[in-house]
This record gives sequence, C-alpha cells and structure tokens, in this order.
Amino acid sequence: ATPMSIMVGVGRGARAGVLIKNAAALERFEKVDTLAVDKTGTLTEGKPAVTRVVPADGFAETELMRLVAAVEQPSEHPLARAIVNAAGGTTLPVVDDFEAPAGKGVTGTVEGHRVAVGSGSFVAALDVDTTPMAARADELRGEGATAVFAAVDGRLAGVLAVADPVRPTTAAALTQLRDAGIEVVMVTGDNRVTARAVAARLGIDRVEAEVLPDRKSQVVTGLRAEGRVVAFAGDGTNDAPALAAADVGLAMSTGTDVALESAGVTLLHGDLTGIARARRLSQATMGNIR
Ligand code: ADP
Ligand code: MG
Repeated sequence: ATPMSIMVGVGRGARAGVLIKNAAALERFEKVDTLAVDKTGTLTEGKPAVTRVVPADGFAETELMRLVAAVEQPSEHPLARAIVNAAGGTTLPVVDDFEAPAGKGVTGTVEGHRVAVGSGSFVAALDVDTTPMAARADELRGEGATAVFAAVDGRLAGVLAVADPVRPTTAAALTQLRDAGIEVVMVTGDNRVTARAVAARLGIDRVEAEVLPDRKSQVVTGLRAEGRVVAFAGDGTNDAPALAAADVGLAMSTGTDVALESAGVTLLHGDLTGIARARRLSQATMGNIR
C-alpha cells in the first residue's frame, strides 16, 4: 500500500478504537487466518473475584483467608488482587521469603507458617496431598472458575473459587471473526477444565490450556509452522513473547505496559470487536494498490 493509504488506514483505525503502530501490522492483518487468544484479562474482564471459599477439615474460613491473602499481598497477579480484596480491609500479617513462580502461584512464610497458594499442580508439586479436594475443585472449574489451592505447613488448607466474568463484547467479537473465516484458539495458563468450560460458553473449539508463560510463544510458533497467519491477543506481561512471535500482536489497552510495547496493535477499551474492524481496514487499505 502507499504511505498515504497506510496513513488513512491508521487514522480510520484510531477512530474505530484500534491503534495501529506500524505499517507492517496493518499490511499483514488481511492475511490473518488464526487468532490465538489469552483467556484471563483478554476474553474475560481481568477483574476476578473470589466466589467461594472451601476450607479443608481443621481450618476456619477467616484464618484461611488471612494467611492466603497475606502471602498474595506482594503479588501483582489479578488472582492475587481478588484474594486480597476478599479478605476485606483487615490488616494482613507480613510475609517473609516471598516467591512467585510465574504461571504457578506464590509461597512465603507468615507468622512462622509456610504458606503456598496457586494452581493444583503447583501445590501438589510441593508434596501437598491435594486429592481430598480434587473433586470439589473440578466442580468449581466446571462452572468456569479458577480453583486456587492453599496449603499451610505442607497440609492442604482449602480451595478458593475465583471467577472472572467474560467481557460483554467478547461473544459478538468472536462471531464476527468466525464469520470472517478466522479460527480462534484459546491459549491459557489456566487449568484445562476451567479453560474448556469458558471456551464452550464462547463456542471456541480449540484450547491450549496449562501453558506456562514462557511457552505461550511456542504455541504461536507452532500454529505458524502449520502454515497459518497468526494474530495473538493478550493483556499480560506473560503474553509479551507471544505478542512478539505472532504475525500481528494485539494488546488490550487494559493490559500491562510490557504487553502494549510488544504488540503492533492496541485494542482500545479492551474491546475485541476491534480485531474484525482492523482486518476489514487492512483489506480496504491493501485493496488500494491492487
Ligand atoms: P493466564 O494465562 O490465564 O493469564 P497465568 O499464566 O498468569 O494465567 O497463571 C496460570 C495459573 O497459575 C493460574 O490459573 C493460577 O492457577 C496460577 N497462579 C498464577 N499466579 C497465581 C497467584 N498469584 N495466586 C494464585 N494462583 C496463581
Ligand atoms: Mg491474561
């Protein structure tokens, strides 16, 4: 396309809520046939809330929440913020030896107790027997919630359900993309059962779940190796490598700075309907020179 038509395309995109940073992104967009999309914060609002607290035998709910919120306090993860909010305005004890392995959870020492909070597989890998709550966790996941496991001093202490509502614009955006012949693939660090429940609700058939942050870009690379032209939409710092690896990276304006910097396109208001709009713009722009 001519520099002039690119400028016009970029300007029209901006008015339609799609900020296109470079000509390459606009030019490549019309060839996109696959959208890989992060779940939390992208398909969903990224405003998760604790919807259920299930203490294990021998643990009281308030004490469980106090310890769990204390160890989540230094974390910037959306799940952590939901858990700290759920603990209410109470003053939380200090956490020592805080660690937060990406895509897994958090650990720390609170009032002399070793506390671990995170995915079932993360907590189980710390030699905690999670089986007494496995069925309960799968029930919560079947409703589309994320099951967060908690352990205190190596003993299972409870499970929390954290639910993140699907964005009001997501269903319409996915319908537009499917109508345009684009296949949608969910790529998420979340558990398989939760991911499938949310995907089913949105009519997404292909799901890559339990993908650790450093592997999201490999999923994108794999899809490209299938001969696809891939756009990746995401919001998180952990999505940055996948945004960079995609033919077109789409960052939610509600996402982190690192995500925004790694993407060629910003979707304003975190609205995925901008994707179909940007593709039409690309087609119109590229059509100018044919
Ligand atoms: P997503 O790809 O959906 O944005 P992440 O890769 O950030 O998710 O996290 C994957 C999983 O790791 C979460 O679903 C959760 O089970 C666990 N996890 C990560 N960070 C935390 C945390 N701070 N507290 C509890 N669980 C966490
Ligand atoms: Mg995310």
